[in-house]
Amino acid sequence: YAKENGRNNCKFFEQDMNARAVQRQSIEASLRRALERQEFVLHYQPKINLQSGTIVGVEALIRWQHPERGLLAPAQFVSIAEDCGLILPIGRWVLREACLQGRAWQLAGLPPITVAVNTSALEFRAKDFLENVRATLADTCLEPRYLELELTESVLMRDAQSTDSMLHALADMGVKLAVDDFGTGYSSLSYLRQFPIDTLKIDQSFVTQISRNPDDATIVSAVIGMGKSLKKRVIAEGVETPEQYAFLLAQHCDEGQGDYFGRPVVAEAFATLLQTGVSLR
Ligand code: C2E
Ligand code: MG
Ligand code: MG
Ligand code: MG
Repeated sequence: YAKENGRNNCKFFEQDMNARAVQRQSIEASLRRALERQEFVLHYQPKINLQSGTIVGVEALIRWQHPERGLLAPAQFVSIAEDCGLILPIGRWVLREACLQGRAWQLAGLPPITVAVNTSALEFRAKDFLENVRATLADTCLEPRYLELELTESVLMRDAQSTDSMLHALADMGVKLAVDDFGTGYSSLSYLRQFPIDTLKIDQSFVTQISRNPDDATIVSAVIGMGKSLKKRVIAEGVETPEQYAFLLAQHCDEGQGDYFGRPVVAEAFATLLQTGVSLR
């Protein structure tokens, strides 16, 4: 009976797997079309200097304006794009669009800020990545110091030797480098000495419970302290409340990003925000 049951479960599982595989395939096909039809858009979220309250940077976050399903978040398509390799052309588009936009804001007379772009492992490991970054900066006339690449620990730890030379080549070019979701991945702290990293982005999951969970508060304080001693900029992700802001300010965290300061918005809305500044209640 148990065996029979198990076999049934297995069958259901298989059907489920098939359904999912079919769904993935159809997403893959529509991702390809989306590139041609230019259905991707970038939303922009401010990064705030906690002391002064001014916007010092912006993170570009991809969205997919799907013709039938509406605006899709990265969680709904980025990992599929990574699996099928489409993240390479998508990533190129993101980089170019973000650099163009950063330059456009400067040309419009807005205060110069750093534009951050998320970089997947596949992109970072691609043979032409460095050359693509160089060419994109040259084409868009954005000074390298205004571009920041956000890399996760898993990207950094994959192959220390090649990571090291790639990071140094980017840093020599003048591009800024940040560790995204810091504290959630597998990593060795020794890489912080070795790699030319400018910024640590403390993951949202530690920030969320800052005011309620003493352990999270301790971890956040420790990361800020360590970052400072290593002369890195430290930014907290996912800041949502005045309490979290107050805590981070008291701990001398350099920057903050999150809904409390501003949600990701389209380029035009971000330009307005850049002009008026964020209002901290
Ligand atoms: P991430 O790089 O860690 O980006 C931060 C995510 O947290 C964003 O989600 C942002 O909208 C969200 N967030 C910011 N502030 C708050 C807050 O106060 N509360 C909450 N609950 N969430 C907040 P999003 O835009 O859905 O992006 C998710 C992830 O997708 C990103 O995480 C990044 O890993 C990836 N991603 C986004 N854009 C790109 C891209 O252009 N290329 C690649 N390869 N990955 C991307
Ligand atoms: Mg990021
Ligand atoms: Mg992050
Ligand atoms: Mg995150």
